[in-house]
Amino acid sequence: MSRLVIVSNRVSLPRKGAQAGGLAVALRDALERLGGLWFGWSGEVAEDGAVPPPRAVTHGGITYVTTDLTRQDYEEFYNGFSNSTLWPLFHFRLGLLEVSRRSYEGYLRVNAAFAAQLAPMIRRDDVIWVHDYHLIPLGDELRRLGIANRMGFFLHTPFPVPELLVALPGHRRLVRALCAYDLVGFQTRDDVRAFLGYVGGEARGEIGEGGRFTAYGRSAKAAAYPIGIDTASFAALAAAQAASPETAGLIESLQGRKLILGVERLDYSKGLPHRFDAIECLLECHADLKRQFEFMQIAAPSREEVARYRALKRQLESAAGRINGRFSEFDWQPVRYINKGYDRATLAGFYRTATVGLVTPLRDGMNLVAKEYVAAQDPTDPGVLVLSRFAGSARELQSALIVNPFDADEVADALARALTMPAIERRSRWRAMMDVVEANTVETWRDAFLGDLAAGMVETDDFAHPDEEGLGLEPPPLPLAPGFQPPGYLR
Ligand code: UDP
Repeated sequence: MSRLVIVSNRVSLPRKGAQAGGLAVALRDALERLGGLWFGWSGEVAEDGAVPPPRAVTHGGITYVTTDLTRQDYEEFYNGFSNSTLWPLFHFRLGLLEVSRRSYEGYLRVNAAFAAQLAPMIRRDDVIWVHDYHLIPLGDELRRLGIANRMGFFLHTPFPVPELLVALPGHRRLVRALCAYDLVGFQTRDDVRAFLGYVGGEARGEIGEGGRFTAYGRSAKAAAYPIGIDTASFAALAAAQAASPETAGLIESLQGRKLILGVERLDYSKGLPHRFDAIECLLECHADLKRQFEFMQIAAPSREEVARYRALKRQLESAAGRINGRFSEFDWQPVRYINKGYDRATLAGFYRTATVGLVTPLRDGMNLVAKEYVAAQDPTDPGVLVLSRFAGSARELQSALIVNPFDADEVADALARALTMPAIERRSRWRAMMDVVEANTVETWRDAFLGDLAAGMVETDDFAHPDEEGLGLEPPPLPLAPGFQPPGYLR
């Protein structure tokens, strides 16, 4: 049987007492079953410029191989091209795009170095699965080194429409590198459509049936594999956490008020300044709801070495201060802004406590927080999800209150509706969302991708699709990978 080789920017090493998230557990589980190797950056920067040879540890039948980056690699490959060029571009933020030939060369250099380190470890029958925007050229580099194995790539972020992608110097090389894989997986059919739009237009490739394409001398397939969470275990964790000291402390501090909760990394793709505007709008336009709720925003620090992220942090501190200064009373404050991260268990209890889960990214590949919020609810008294139409998860969670995050009035109205929604409507909306979150888990995502990659791609034309008319879009012609379920109300 084939061995599985996973390559991702960061490797989730098994650590005593560490709580691994759904994705790490799902990938480890596949590696344990198939036997395999997980390769990536150690997270360490070799300050003296000399990178030691990759380190390998074996645990539970899995070999974890990690390698360091030099300071220059870290600046150019990681902070530079990955997080200051590709990240904003892939989140449709051309205005934030930083273009530098040095960082582009650093990106290509690190991908080539990773490929050179990995290639000698690859066996003839291995199936290789490369993850995310940091490592797009890795497969192409492996091919150059003579690796002919079946190779798949999954992009966890959105993929930009061709009109935006061409703003990137090196766009052709990037797409050509994607064509080196046998299967290119995206979060949604919009992303597949954007990718094939480039392949069929700019690259003058041929687009066949069911996401197949030929370009740059290679034939491959693109499909959507919406990632999920470990739903059953997350729901059980949330139920158990309902009585935890942290959850009890939160409930007590609310003094009977309803909680609107936002949870994310502090990232400009998450629409946090717009969200604060919407809260301000709610306080202005729905004055009857004042003192009935508190908004708690958990913003876990992220990429603090990138100036844009530091500027966003200052912007949010000032917005929280402004709103509290304007609306607080001596015994009530509308905004709790928390600039630190919490572990999964604590979050699960907080989600369950929140009457409203507020998830309003300006653009997001999937957004797992939305799915975790749904999974964490008490079925007898669930909360309401207010969800941006620009999150990939809005394709599946159509019973959320779907909003345009740029429109503060619309978000404020949705929040007012969520805070006052009758239990019967909350339950029916939640049930429809939970059906999807239970059907499309991280395990179904993994198995569908690996099944397609290993089996030479199954035809999926007869698969039922969610009705996307609710979002004002034509139902797209592209298939969703097998194994994924349409929202419950269509079944
Ligand atoms: N998360 C966490 N602690 C925090 C904030 C977030 O563990 O303080 C987790 C959250 O539970 C979710 C993930 O980080 O599993 C965020 O995933 P998502 O897809 O929503 O956004 P991303 O950060 O990948 O852009």
